[in-house]
Amino acid sequence: MKSLDTDVLVVGAGPTGMLLAGDIAAAGLRVTLVERRPHGISNMTRAFGVHARTLEQLDARGLADELVSTGTPVTELRLFRRLTLDLDRLRTRFPYLLITPQYEVERLLERRAVTAGVDFRYGTELRGLSQDTDHAVAELTGPDGTPVTLRARYLVGTDGVRSAVRTALGLPFPGASVIRSIVLADVRLAEKPEGLLTVNGVGDAFAFVAPFGDGWYRVMGWDRTRQVPDSEPVDLDEVRAIARRALGSDYGMHDARWISRFHSDERQVPAYRVGRVFLAGDAAHVHSPAGGQGMNTGLQDAANLSWKLVAVLRGDAPDPEALLDSYQTERHPVGAMVLRSSGAIVRLAMAHGPLQRTVRALAARILAAVPAASAKALGMVSGLGISYGRNIRRVPDLELREGRLYELLREGEFVLIAPEGARPDPAPSPTSPARLIRATWTDPADRSTLLVRPDGYTF
Ligand SMILES: Cc1cc2nc3c(=O)[nH]c(=O)nc-3n(C[C@H](O)[C@H](O)[C@H](O)COP(=O)(O)OP(=O)(O)OC[C@H]3O[C@@H](n4cnc5c(N)ncnc54)[C@H](O)[C@@H]3O)c2cc1C
Repeated sequence: MKSLDTDVLVVGAGPTGMLLAGDIAAAGLRVTLVERRPHGISNMTRAFGVHARTLEQLDARGLADELVSTGTPVTELRLFRRLTLDLDRLRTRFPYLLITPQYEVERLLERRAVTAGVDFRYGTELRGLSQDTDHAVAELTGPDGTPVTLRARYLVGTDGVRSAVRTALGLPFPGASVIRSIVLADVRLAEKPEGLLTVNGVGDAFAFVAPFGDGWYRVMGWDRTRQVPDSEPVDLDEVRAIARRALGSDYGMHDARWISRFHSDERQVPAYRVGRVFLAGDAAHVHSPAGGQGMNTGLQDAANLSWKLVAVLRGDAPDPEALLDSYQTERHPVGAMVLRSSGAIVRLAMAHGPLQRTVRALAARILAAVPAASAKALGMVSGLGISYGRNIRRVPDLELREGRLYELLREGEFVLIAPEGARPDPAPSPTSPARLIRATWTDPADRSTLLVRPDGYTF
């Protein structure tokens, strides 16, 4: 049996694990990333929408512009025929939803992680784990079935919805199945839909169509009258029929390159941290694909946790336990909120009977008529409106004397913005930064001081 040591062991090379591993390795720490799939076999394109806050996080890693060039920005979401959400009202460098396949996000994150020195071990599966006061100890099997023991200062389970890390911790994953028998097809269309992203629900069916931008479209649909197990075969005629009922047209869909049937659960683990072991991404929370939140939420979990692990491992955190616990305090409520909001969207889409349909019409009318309500909905969906309690808020990209804030954040350090000539010290606290980049307001009249965390939130 071989034994290896590392600073952080990340289990699962999906988007969450690769962003996290890349961040920690970029800070000069040793990271091993184990993935049970062999290298080169990508996951299917599950997610296809990248929201504004995720693009800002990718901008803070120098990846956003390249990702944007792979996809189609959608500035308008048409929901339930009557309601249009205008994403171009968002105050960000990325005022849209970027439609691009999940494998493009993974490709960029993998390249960054490799360049940063992450030790990738494909074909390697976590089978069990234990922990003592100084280490988490993972029991793995390598590509040829060889058992390997790996000791890490910290271990993060980013191993998806059936997380072996979560199981090994003995944690429950409470929740329920929210929707069954959703059909999905990636197709070409003979006619273009009116809106770029079209969503509608009528009677017993709902559907939506979104463009990848390269001539392919993602179609998803659901039919209350045909509720069958995931294993039941699905063909393009079934998808066409649902689209015609829900959207009024099947847009001449043809040439499906992927068709599948799946169900969706709403579940969240109660503890994101147990001692030296953390959970992030789908391993920690799973919900309906409505709102396109899954990958986005996982990437934000990773961005929240990585700098905290780095600070603790470098010995920079005055109170390491408080800093590591703040991952649960900050991210668990966000996961719960995403479960509620994506659940609400899917329930509205499935609205059945006169009362539920009236509620849906009312919700659409309120969102259309009350600017504060639609601004709040946009903030939640895009991720820009997410804050951690009252005081820890997202900092938008700012033009500074030294460049854009999100360019400065590429160093992975805190940024302290102050007036020209001032050299304030950040107030000491359990999480106060030992290292920081100093920056200056462009407007000499601005006399304030702002300390920005490595994940782009106020401190
Ligand atoms: C149809 C569909 C559409 C979706 N659309 C969107 C969308 O538009 N926007 C969005 O944000 N999200 C969307 N999602 C959700 C999104 O795909 C997931 O939330 C995302 O992939 C989660 O990323 P992750 O890194 O946490 O986990 P995963 O991507 O599941 O990665 C986990 C990895 O861990 C590996 N692994 C598992 N067990 C082990 C083990 N024991 N040892 C080693 N490795 C292991 C797996 O092989 C896998 O590579 C969609 C999902 C579906 C099904």
